[in-house]
Amino acid sequence: MIRYHNFSRKIGIFISICFLFFMIGRVTTMGHSIDKGNVPFVLSGNRVLMIVIDGLRPDYITPIIMPNLSIFRKNGFSGQNHHAVYPTSTRINSASIATGTYPNKHGLLNNSLYLPVVNIDHVLNTKKISDLLLIDKFTNGRLLTTVSLGEILQNRDRKLFISSSGSSGSAYLLNHKPGTGTLLHREIILPDSLASVVEKLLGPVLEETKRPLVKTVRRSVDAILKIGIDIINADVIIAWITEPDGTAHSEGIGAPLTIEALKFVDNEISRIIDGLQVRGILKSTNIIIVSDHGFSTRIGEKSISSLLIDHGLKSDKSSTDVIIANDAIYVNEHKEEIIPKIVRLLQKTSWIGPIFTRGNNSTSNMGWIPGTLSFSTMMWDHERSSDILTAGNWSDASNKYGFKGVVSLPGVAGHNSTSPYDIKATFLASGPDFKSQTKQQT
Ligand SMILES: [Zn+2]
Repeated sequence: MIRYHNFSRKIGIFISICFLFFMIGRVTTMGHSIDKGNVPFVLSGNRVLMIVIDGLRPDYITPIIMPNLSIFRKNGFSGQNHHAVYPTSTRINSASIATGTYPNKHGLLNNSLYLPVVNIDHVLNTKKISDLLLIDKFTNGRLLTTVSLGEILQNRDRKLFISSSGSSGSAYLLNHKPGTGTLLHREIILPDSLASVVEKLLGPVLEETKRPLVKTVRRSVDAILKIGIDIINADVIIAWITEPDGTAHSEGIGAPLTIEALKFVDNEISRIIDGLQVRGILKSTNIIIVSDHGFSTRIGEKSISSLLIDHGLKSDKSSTDVIIANDAIYVNEHKEEIIPKIVRLLQKTSWIGPIFTRGNNSTSNMGWIPGTLSFSTMMWDHERSSDILTAGNWSDASNKYGFKGVVSLPGVAGHNSTSPYDIKATFLASGPDFKSQTKQQT
């Protein structure tokens, strides 16, 4: 029988991504302080290469599935408790990687965002760069509401290079200020003056629909070596590898195609390391390998939207009386007679997990509605926050491939809950500024 856990204790998301950001700061600085964004850091001569492997659960890394990463982990530094920020979705974590802050500071609160100032009727999809540009336009350049790594590095005359095989949105969020570094993605090249060099060295973008996205990932890995290093000679490189996330979403955790994606990614990591070795820069490069979140098997049948419609708390799927963006619920005009009714329905629904509302005050761990936690417990209190944030319930049950962690929302597999299988992520590092053969409870 599946055992569900009620979320009954205060959770403080550890400063995992922030740690990563400051780690970049530490290893790229030595002797100069920086004032912008209050990020103290010192610049050393060692290059930083951060590889984000989308949706890489730490338990995927075994000698059989990922032999190269297994060796990397054994010989280098590994953080045993690395966490995504919550909600454990890609673009929220992309923004956290770019800023070293939680959502309450950067303001990119979910993969889907409802911002009436941009569009009063529809939810924005942060997967699309076009929607991000709209947010930036209608908020006077406040797509992210804090300073980003690209701006900090530019301030220190350091070069940032980003190569992403993920969505255009997750790529853009890694460096959203034009003029601060280089961004290569199949849909975007910034600055666009690089377009002809990119085409010449990498060839044309190849359309790909079948998972795993082998050609797309290979091209973005080529970009790290042939452009990020050989042409730009960047001080900090962020490489976003979109697999195994997409394959796991459609096929499931541990499914044959997902394992194929993992083996492919493992080979690509080896190809990057070999490329550094051939160029004679492996020993002077700090390599950080992380994932943006974990993953869970989905076993639910109903969405939050359907639940509310069935109980007369939302008119229909496209109505604007109550708008749902992922697991965030926005009530039109924040009607205080409606919000408690929705919370009470969620509380008595067994497949719903923790429920968050605004705090009673700025320091309270409890939300203003009895039985809810405050947004601040999850570092999610921001002017853009919805009225309610929730998630599917979870358990430790295993799926048919033996991978633990299920969430009671519809779909094959996914992430963004408070389950430890969604929150726990990968953190490995190796290079001149890291201890070798070290495991730490970080
Ligand atoms: Zn992701």
